[in-house]
Formats: sequence, structure tokens, C-alpha cells
Amino acid sequence: MDGLRCPACGGALTTDREALVCDGGAGTEGGGAGCGARYPVVDGVPVLLDAATSVHTVADVLAGRSAGFVPTRGPARRLLSRLTAPPSRNVAAVANYARLATEARGLAPRPRVLVIGGGLGGDGIEALAGLDVLVTDVCFGPTTRLVCDAHRLPFADGTFHAVVAQAVLEHVLDPAACVAELHRVLVPGGLVYAETPFMQQVHGGAHDFTRYTALGHRRLFRRFDELAAGVCCGPGMALAWSVQYFLAAFAVGPTSKRLLRAQGTALTFALPWLDPWLATRPGGADAASGVWFLGRRSEATLSDRALIEGYRGAG
Ligand SMILES: [Zn+2]
Repeated sequence: MDGLRCPACGGALTTDREALVCDGGAGTEGGGAGCGARYPVVDGVPVLLDAATSVHTVADVLAGRSAGFVPTRGPARRLLSRLTAPPSRNVAAVANYARLATEARGLAPRPRVLVIGGGLGGDGIEALAGLDVLVTDVCFGPTTRLVCDAHRLPFADGTFHAVVAQAVLEHVLDPAACVAELHRVLVPGGLVYAETPFMQQVHGGAHDFTRYTALGHRRLFRRFDELAAGVCCGPGMALAWSVQYFLAAFAVGPTSKRLLRAQGTALTFALPWLDPWLATRPGGADAASGVWFLGRRSEATLSDRALIEGYRGAG
């Protein structure tokens, strides 16, 4: 992998047996000393976490205890989790990924794309096939090729033509710091695509911290020019999740929680079918389950006055 850097000090990394070592490129022309940090490589997947700043530890990742990790399940467990999962529908991802791929091909014949938090795959991400995609996460997963924390991305400046953060920024402690990192690792004019929850209940256990309105999300990406933005998960999904989590709040143990969640799913499964229509309405943005943003790296910053003028809700 080209462009890898130490997440602690930004120094260059050298392969040393089953590890990457930060020697700052000491053996190369213009190299520095580096901090000496040593990062494991497990079955070809580097684990590049900064021990001093990340809440995710190498030990937890190696032991499969890290956030986002989903153990392999048998068919019966998978069916059960489907019956009790809150009804969900993404109405925008397929078209948006296709547009992202088209825009990225305008920057390079085979654009380099960084996906953060993508170890379990993502709705519509198949549209990036044929691009040079690097999928990263804070845990091992079916598609994880590198483990890293978005607060300290282990890449040189300007490494990627596009970056993707689908349902990730609610799970980071400092979204603004992570978006600054996305900006840093993009080439000038590089692309960002993000989907982030607005009206969604807690998921992912302890690692769930933040929600955004459409304008709050736009402000997070204020150092990007907007190509397009909208609702990815609509009011029907938001209501379905509310009903399900309302019922689950009555649970007194794991079994009753499962039964109440299944009841919630049965009562509300049809609601997200309304979302392709509701997501396009002004009131849909005010009641959305999640919002998306597609933008291009800029060296200017959107003013807050211009931000307010971008409101597209029902008022
Ligand atoms: Zn270092």
C-alpha cells in the first residue's frame, strides 16, 4: 500500500517481518528519525492505531473485542437478527455511489478511494467496483484491508481522489477532527461522500455519540464545495425505529427485548416504503432518519450566513 504513514507522528513506515515500523523513512532520501512505533500486520491487514490517542486498542482489535466487530453467526442467528432489526431503507446510496464513481473517474483513470468504517460493507458501495478502493475500519471485518482510526488517518497528505464515510461519523468522538483528516488525505478537488444519522436511536452500544440535521451536516463539511446533498433514510424509517425502540424500552431481559423488537419490526416494516417519496419533500428533510453530503475539497470555508441560506426544509 502506497502512502502509509505512522498515525502517531506522520513518519514513513518500513516493513519488518509481521509488522510496520515507524522509522520516519530513515533509510530514504530526506528521511527523518520516526518515533519507533511498531504496528502489527495480521493476515496482510495492518493495524495502524495510535495507542496514545485512540479509544480503540490494538489488543481489542486482535482479540475481536473492538467496536463494530460482529462475530460470524449461523443461519438461525442471522434470521433472528433480521426479524428483530429495526426496519431500514437507504433511498439514495445506489445513485450517489454511481455519481461518486463518475466524478472520481474525472480526476484519474483509476481513482484511489478511501472508505472508512466499511469493514462490514455498505449499501450501494458495489458501484465503486473497478476503482482502486481501500476499505478500512476500527475492527477486522469481511472487507477490512487496513485497521485505522479516522481521528488519525495513517496516510500521507493528498493520497486519495475520494473518501467515503457511510454511517460512520456518529460513531467517532470528534467528527470535525475526522472530517479534517478526510480533507487532508484528499488531493486538491478530491471528493467526499458521507451519510450520517439524524433521527436515529442509539446503535453500536457505547460507540455512538452524535447526530446531525441537514445543515449541521453541511457545516461539518464547510471546507468542501457541495455537489449535492439530501436525505438517505427518510421519515418512515425514523418512525419505525422510534416505535421499535419505544417497545424495547419496556424489556426486562434479553428474551423480552427480542420479542418486543420483533413486535416492533412486525408493526412498522412497511413504513420505510414511503421514504422514496417522503425523502424528496421539504418536510422529509426535517424528519429524516439520515442525511447525505457529496462534496469536493475546497481551500475556502463556507460562511455560516451562506450555510443558513441553504436550508431546504419545510420551515
Ligand atoms: Zn511514528
